[in-house]
Amino acid sequence: MKNNSSRPLFSFSGFVCSTFGHDYVITRKVTNHINEYRCTHCGKEVTDNFSGNLEQLTLKNKQVNSSLALFFEKKTKRDYSTS
Ligand SMILES: [Zn+2]
Repeated sequence: MKNNSSRPLFSFSGFVCSTFGHDYVITRKVTNHINEYRCTHCGKEVTDNFSGNLEQLTLKNKQVNSSLALFFEKKTKRDYSTS
């Protein structure tokens, strides 16, 4: 008797997403214009890129966003203290 438990089960979430589109919520604000999002149904993670399009949130993109957030935070603090 074969054990088929490792086969992926039919995913209702995936069905909802492919039919109605992903339901993204913001998981992190990187800058005023760039956020990271996660789909509440399937857990897919995406981020805004410089062109204003959504892009898959890869490890590389996460690292880029982290340095961007750090830079943005410093800039915001400096602007705030000088104004
Ligand atoms: Zn989804």
